[in-house]
Amino acid sequence: MTRALLAAAHHVPTTDAPTADHWRGRPVAQAPDWPDSRLLDRVVGELSTASTLVSPQECDDLTDRLAQVAQGAGFLLQGGDCAETFGGTSSLAVRRKLETLLQIAVVLTYAGSLPVVKIGRMAGQFAKPRSVPTETRDGVTLPAYRGDAVNGIEFTAQARRPDPRRLHEMYQASAATLAIIRAFLTGGYADLRQVHAWNQDFVARSPVGRRYERLADDIDRALRFVQACNMDLAGTRSVDLYTSHEGLLLDYEEALTRTDPRTGRRYAGSGHLLWLGERTRQLDGAHLAYLTTIANPIAVKLGPATTADEVGAYIDLLDPQRRPGRLTFIARMGAQAVRDRLPALVEAAVSVGGVVTWISDPMHGNTITAPSGHKTRRFDDIVDEVTGFFEVHAALGTHPGGLHIELTGDDVAECVGGGEPIAFDDLHAGYESACDPRLNRSQSIELAFRTAELLHA
Ligand code: PEP
Ligand code: MN
Repeated sequence: MTRALLAAAHHVPTTDAPTADHWRGRPVAQAPDWPDSRLLDRVVGELSTASTLVSPQECDDLTDRLAQVAQGAGFLLQGGDCAETFGGTSSLAVRRKLETLLQIAVVLTYAGSLPVVKIGRMAGQFAKPRSVPTETRDGVTLPAYRGDAVNGIEFTAQARRPDPRRLHEMYQASAATLAIIRAFLTGGYADLRQVHAWNQDFVARSPVGRRYERLADDIDRALRFVQACNMDLAGTRSVDLYTSHEGLLLDYEEALTRTDPRTGRRYAGSGHLLWLGERTRQLDGAHLAYLTTIANPIAVKLGPATTADEVGAYIDLLDPQRRPGRLTFIARMGAQAVRDRLPALVEAAVSVGGVVTWISDPMHGNTITAPSGHKTRRFDDIVDEVTGFFEVHAALGTHPGGLHIELTGDDVAECVGGGEPIAFDDLHAGYESACDPRLNRSQSIELAFRTAELLHA
């Protein structure tokens, strides 16, 4: 990382972290098999004196915004790559993702008349849990790819060997991405008067792009009207976007955790919000214990096997004070299960007095294998899960608080279906994801319009 980036980052002095003992010694699911513990210790030691990437104040601001969502007065949009890559941190790639998030957010804000809190799966989403620890190709078995933070994606023994120095690269790639995000957001690019500019060429020509253009025209007219009335436009000039990733690599997270001198509370410094994945949400596990030691807003993914008792236990352990904004549940049930499984979980949260944010991840429960062997998802299943999520909340009188999606700003072919349909046969040429299939720009905006219709209903 350059000096300028370091200087721009927030420096919070390192203090002893007494509560780190709370998670050490507990079972760590999905831990990489680091071959060289001395090298790991050295890298972690270096990171523990580095500047944090986000500040406690920003994390508290996000908690306040999420508190509004938890209480029904906002909507959360969380999105980005399944796995960021060290090669994907160019300004153009980051800008395209930001534009996609901003476009979705505008559609949802306009339709729902609710503030949309924006969180990228960005600037830290470099590590992946795996269902199967190895991968076999043509009779050769190697360790699975666990994200650029751990090993390389190339199918060679050397690349697949975990390398602790990659944690340092993860820090640098996160800092670089965050610097790009901050520059775009503060440099006027997120000004609502740029709504047209975010609609990139290939999307602008598509039917959904034209639908977006019409909405952008409406927004332009509304802005001109407000301006002509001499009303305050301050809130339209910039935007806040927060960062998040799965809190998977605890050595890395602990190294960037600092005690805030203002309050004496510990904060993860690697991103604003950390979540527990479906594979690391064990109640007695190290990942959950680590989250109990930090004051950031946090989230837990809930798959279809989650029980009502588990939901109550998450609230007791992670949000004992029942603070709105502290805890978000990300339901990733699958289109088949959401209507059956989700109600009991929402009721369990209500019954223990939790004021949590519920959002829908319609991606991870709907993964299928294409005839070509690619992991893919059907656009219709994704829409169906979001629809089911809204139905469940409507029936219970609770708030459908947001969406968690895997997307890219690029013209990829990874999920099938959508208004400009992508077929199984298109996956060969258009598949770029390092891990799970993402919605491309058109599919993302289309999902925004479909969700907007549900917000209206
Ligand atoms: C993910 O979000 O990429 C992921 C692995 O999700 P889950 O933990 O829900 O399977
Ligand atoms: Mn994923």
